[in-house]
Amino acid sequence: MNPVDTQAETTPLDVERIRQDFPILRRKVRGKPLVYLDNAATSQKPQSVIDAISHHYSHTNANVHRGVHCLAEEATEAYEEVRRKVCRFIHADDPTSIVFTRNTTESINLVAHAWGRKFLAEDDEVVLTVMEHHSNLVPWQLLAKDTGCKLRFIDIDDDGHLRTDRLDEYITDKTKLVCMGHVSNALGTINSVRTIACAARAVGALVLVDGAQSAPHGPVNVETLDCDFYAYSPHKALGPMGIGVLWARRDLLEEMDPFLGGGEMIRNVTLERSTWAGVPHKFEAGTPSVADAVGLGAATDYLMDIGMENIRAHEKYIISYAMERLAELPFIRFFGPRDPVDRCGLVSFIDTDIHPHDLGTIVDQHGVAIRAGHHCAKPLMHRLGVVATARASFYIYNDRNDVDALIDSLLAARKVFGL
Ligand code: PLP
Repeated sequence: MNPVDTQAETTPLDVERIRQDFPILRRKVRGKPLVYLDNAATSQKPQSVIDAISHHYSHTNANVHRGVHCLAEEATEAYEEVRRKVCRFIHADDPTSIVFTRNTTESINLVAHAWGRKFLAEDDEVVLTVMEHHSNLVPWQLLAKDTGCKLRFIDIDDDGHLRTDRLDEYITDKTKLVCMGHVSNALGTINSVRTIACAARAVGALVLVDGAQSAPHGPVNVETLDCDFYAYSPHKALGPMGIGVLWARRDLLEEMDPFLGGGEMIRNVTLERSTWAGVPHKFEAGTPSVADAVGLGAATDYLMDIGMENIRAHEKYIISYAMERLAELPFIRFFGPRDPVDRCGLVSFIDTDIHPHDLGTIVDQHGVAIRAGHHCAKPLMHRLGVVATARASFYIYNDRNDVDALIDSLLAARKVFGL
């Protein structure tokens, strides 16, 4: 995500107008208007995405890349058009370097299997960070078990920034791959991929970026990030669940072995052996989720119409206010960078007197949906010295009155406990 110079006091988005596109925001929860602040887990879907999926099943449904009939051709074209769209969205230059998976988790597992198992050996090192989501940790632990490669972890400072001042301790001649989250789902920190990629390049290592929390929230350019692999989950970016994205440098995809075997990923098959289709199809075995791809296309259109710079500016506007309001509450301790320039639109916090799960349950009674728990980042929780946090995460349809509703519900939780 690239920095944007916008005043945090205003938003370029017409939030009221945007909200009308999201039918779920009209419903009530526990008798109260829904205040949806769990966008880091998954975003809500605009009507255009819901309609695109429905239209596909009503008019264009067929399997892709195999039929010669009209519907099969139209479905294939719709599917491939989304690949081109995603390519433009992340500013890549070659649509064939986009692989559709199920989610970020599968994209990272694909790299761990298809690249890691082929190119890593005992004593090679993979460098991660202590703030990784389990999706960008467990696949590398499995790989280390199988190949004997070692994992090393870049630490954080007290403000939740990566210790880039100590990179030469972590990234050495043994490093073959650096895997890092672009934006932390539990701290909100926007990490400097370029700084770390520069250190990785200096020792000839590759860089994988977990973009699950960056692609939905601001402009992403895989070229200027200087990474080799970039993964994200469209369901966090207005798209449907069931489709994921992996971008990789094409030469790497060419030399990687397949991840899954089956139909549509082969060039030729005999009883004894098979040869592989070209990229990206070599990595897309079996029937893909075509309708979800179509939904991803509509979601990408929606985001690009608003403009990713505007979305980033909007989130800076919301998070500045959220941090300001939370800082007024002496019983709240929050984690991650203080400066909204260094953080995305989410904030993790604890009430020093109430367990995050109790807090999550009570604010839900007020229609406020937040996440409470370890956020699939247990090692980070351990590093922070807590078992769980509460997390409020904002998106394009949230405004400052949602922050006010959160604060009111946090105060109401204090009353429940007689505090
Ligand atoms: N990485 C980060 C930083 C995330 O926040 C998430 C989901 O919350 C994931 C990876 C995994 O995404 P998915 O469950 O869509 O694979």
